[in-house]
Amino acid sequence: MGIQENYKHIKSQLPENVQLVAVSKTHPVSAIQEVYDLGQKVFGENKVQELMEKYPLLPKDIQWHLIGHLQTNKVKYIAEFIDTIQSVDSEKLLSEINKEAGKNNRTIKVLLQVKIAEEESKFGLEINEAKDLFEKFMNGEFQNVEITGLMGMATFTEDEDQIRKEFLILKKLFDELNQLKTLNTLSMGMSDDFPVAIECGANSVRVGSAIFGRRDYSK
Ligand SMILES: *Cc1c(COP(=O)(O)O)cnc(C)c1O
Repeated sequence: MGIQENYKHIKSQLPENVQLVAVSKTHPVSAIQEVYDLGQKVFGENKVQELMEKYPLLPKDIQWHLIGHLQTNKVKYIAEFIDTIQSVDSEKLLSEINKEAGKNNRTIKVLLQVKIAEEESKFGLEINEAKDLFEKFMNGEFQNVEITGLMGMATFTEDEDQIRKEFLILKKLFDELNQLKTLNTLSMGMSDDFPVAIECGANSVRVGSAIFGRRDYSK
């Protein structure tokens, strides 16, 4: 199947209330434009450098999500236009996003990335760190960011029970933090596990290879 068929196939599997973030990392702007032309407005990239190369070449109404680890010294390059930073994994990073958003007179939406995978993962907040950071935000510490939800990645495994268990940990935290109904996004699920993620309460999924095809890192 080609990109357009893939896209339609994925869309057909998503309930109406579930947002699709089309993960276009490593794929050319021509492929992104193809999917955009079918009506997709939300795209995800994981590297600042790559995003900055693509951004000027594509329609301005694309909502760009940064989904990969972000170094604090690179926030300034994307602060003017990024819609959502899904990968906030430290207080230092959140402070920097807040500062750069302020300089640009805007509010940047962010998700707290939480470590839920059993496997060793380098990035993500521990549950308690996420709670602490959210509390600071609710107490007004970061005026130029809006924490709109949580993001997590399950262990890379065939074991669906394991994946389900991990997604449910994040769903539980989401419900706990969302008692005041200030959150709207629970981002979990990728090409291989998005149906499970949706069953577990995800309302935003990040799908790359199932739309754009396999990534070729040798290029
Ligand atoms: C690459 C990536 C995805 C998409 O992965 P696929 O398996 O290609 O769908 C989703 N989330 C994050 C954080 C990623 O880095």
